[in-house]
Amino acid sequence: MSRVNVMLPYLGEEEIEAVTEVLRSGWVAQGPRVAAFESAFATAMQAEHAVAVSSCTTALHLALEVVGVRAGDEVVVPSFSFIATTNAVVYQGATPVFADVDLTTGNLTAETVAGVLTARTRAVIVVDQGGVPVDLDAIRAVCDPRGVTVVEDAACGAGSTYRGRPVGAGAEIAAWSFHPRKILTTGEGGMLTTSVPAWAARARTLREHAMSVSAADRHGQVLAPAESYDEVGFNYRMTDLQAAVGLVQLQRLPGIVERRRALAATYAKHLEEIPELRAVADPPWGTSNFQSYWVEVHPTSPVGRDELLVRLAEADISARRGIMSTHRQPPHAHLAVPGSLPVTERLTDGTLILPLFHQMDETQQGRVIDVLVSVGTD
Ligand SMILES: *Cc1c(COP(=O)(O)O)cnc(C)c1O
Repeated sequence: MSRVNVMLPYLGEEEIEAVTEVLRSGWVAQGPRVAAFESAFATAMQAEHAVAVSSCTTALHLALEVVGVRAGDEVVVPSFSFIATTNAVVYQGATPVFADVDLTTGNLTAETVAGVLTARTRAVIVVDQGGVPVDLDAIRAVCDPRGVTVVEDAACGAGSTYRGRPVGAGAEIAAWSFHPRKILTTGEGGMLTTSVPAWAARARTLREHAMSVSAADRHGQVLAPAESYDEVGFNYRMTDLQAAVGLVQLQRLPGIVERRRALAATYAKHLEEIPELRAVADPPWGTSNFQSYWVEVHPTSPVGRDELLVRLAEADISARRGIMSTHRQPPHAHLAVPGSLPVTERLTDGTLILPLFHQMDETQQGRVIDVLVSVGTD
């Protein structure tokens, strides 16, 4: 019996060949492959502009900078997210303001956001948590009239849809992750997509030290034009090695999502018979890629969440505790009003993420389901 992982990246010979080709070309840093990946990603996600960067964290940082978040501003975020969502706000010297999430989707809602908006709110970061599309239109209906920019943290969202389009397509600006824990991977990597040309242009220079001429353009010429640096930028570049992998992964995405949704449907069918467990599901307004397939252990279940994790581990199955509550971590604990995030805390404490990956077979999934069924017996 071998270990069942919670997640495995899906990589093949095509990625190996693509990387080899880049190595042979002699151009390994940001160059033509990055440009090709940006354009293919923009097409796939129905985005007008795509700017490749080193991670979703750096994409979020650039997004907040280009939309104009400055020191002293407030930015609404879910505490129920990976800590990078909140950290990006702190990088800007702004103040994260936590809003609670919905129990069924794990996402911010128009109501939870409206409840914490103030005159100082400059932006809201919404997350498609675990791949579940956030109800973006409802939140924009609250924010747009107040001049509050909605940034979509679509780190988990590649392949999810919202009202018939890819998630992120309806946002003014969105950030994506290509970490191996996500659906589409480049090892590390991220993307910023936006409908605002000026934001895309500024992000493009800021990712490269705010250089007036990109390195790719300079090295393409024998006598390179002189560059200038008009502000303090960053090195947030993606490499052509990563982009070559991303181009292949992007082609695999529809197949990966189809497979994940089939595996999720199998889990859902069995979970219907287990009253102690409630599974994440598609919301009425879209479809999830099930990047994180989570279940909540009912508060009255004889076997609790932690005990279920132990039972899975005993069967050599690697599950994970639910999404974190960022406001419980030391650097951000002072920001939360005690008792103000009951749903966030309930989901963090009561959920677990089940193994789900492209290569998962029936036997592996059957082993997980067998342990889940045991939750009714202590
Ligand atoms: C993974 C994740 C990030 C960070 O992505 P990186 O590419 O690792 O920087 C940010 N936000 C959310 C919601 C995530 O799940």
